Amino acid sequence: MDIAALNSTKILRKHVLKWMCLFFGLLSFIFAVFNLSKNHFYIVAGLEVCFSALCFYIFIQLVKNKQRNWYAITVCMTVTLVILCGTFLAPLKNGLFLWAFSLPILYYLLLGRKYGIVLSATLLVMQSSVLLYKLPSPYFSSFNLALNLLFIYIIIWVISHVFEGNRAEFSKRLKNLALLDPLTGAGNRLSMSHYFEVEIKDKSQLYLFLIDLDHFKQINDEYGHDVGDKVLVELATLFRITFAKGYVFRVGGEEFSLMGNFDSAQSALAMAENLRQAVATKYIEANGITINLTASVGVVKYQQQNLAELIAQADKQLYKAKDAGRNAVFSDINLCADAA
Ligand code: GH3
Ligand code: MG
Ligand code: MG
Repeated sequence: MDIAALNSTKILRKHVLKWMCLFFGLLSFIFAVFNLSKNHFYIVAGLEVCFSALCFYIFIQLVKNKQRNWYAITVCMTVTLVILCGTFLAPLKNGLFLWAFSLPILYYLLLGRKYGIVLSATLLVMQSSVLLYKLPSPYFSSFNLALNLLFIYIIIWVISHVFEGNRAEFSKRLKNLALLDPLTGAGNRLSMSHYFEVEIKDKSQLYLFLIDLDHFKQINDEYGHDVGDKVLVELATLFRITFAKGYVFRVGGEEFSLMGNFDSAQSALAMAENLRQAVATKYIEANGITINLTASVGVVKYQQQNLAELIAQADKQLYKAKDAGRNAVFSDINLCADAA
């Protein structure tokens, strides 16, 4: 299972940042040499050298797969600063201010919509102020030119905003399609692997609850598949409400797996008992029929096992509960050892 594909936004942004850093690093270095040797704009050249060094540093870190949250925001802020300072310090005829048009695209690609909108608006205000300050220049005295530049900036901003908004929305929808069980809305098996391997960072107090509905086949046989489906949907909702602090997955036809952190084994076992009782006392209305059923629960604590081992262990406990007559909670947790 390619779990990494579910983090497509993060991977996309990392690639964009990496190649942008290489490109900006090279370009900024070339500009610095040019500004130093030909134009004698020493401050602008100094800024460009610093920016170039930062870009190369981040590029090398990303090649080594060392990603930090501050990279993208720092690149965006420093490139903005270089362009604003360059516009202010260098003559307008050099055209450095034109680079501002590429920045909304960069903001949205690297940081998403929230940062995109704030940074694009801030840049518009600041860059307009700098350009207005330099208005006496003959290049900027034309009202038409100023208006055209403003509209070009706005259109690039709007396109970036719409594009990133749609990309993020589709990425979220694809993620939901890949991770959610279409019948109950609970997570599926892939989702369970994803949460176990990627999302749950601290597993030191993690418990897994495997729940299998008792004699579920009889419900299908007696009342039909439709009624069975309705029962599954209602129970998935019941598990989500009862187990609000954890994750609920549907891992088989009428089998659910719940994962969550608990302060102690006692509270995890109390939760398992709550879940069993919640099912046993639930009356589900479906197609004019009232259904009441029970469930068997197997509970295990995470102790450095991989997910397959953890599930196999929970399965063992679940089958003990079935063998003991169903509607029961079984666990291999040693309460004395756990308390010690
Ligand atoms: P036990 O107490 O031993 O678990 O008995 P059981 O009848 O629940 O177990 P068994 O594995 O024999 O049956 C599971 C049933 O779940 C078989 C299948 O008809 C039903 N089932 C599986 N997936 C779905 C589904 O998506 N919808 C419905 N309505 N039924 C399903
Ligand atoms: Mg089953
Ligand atoms: Mg069953």
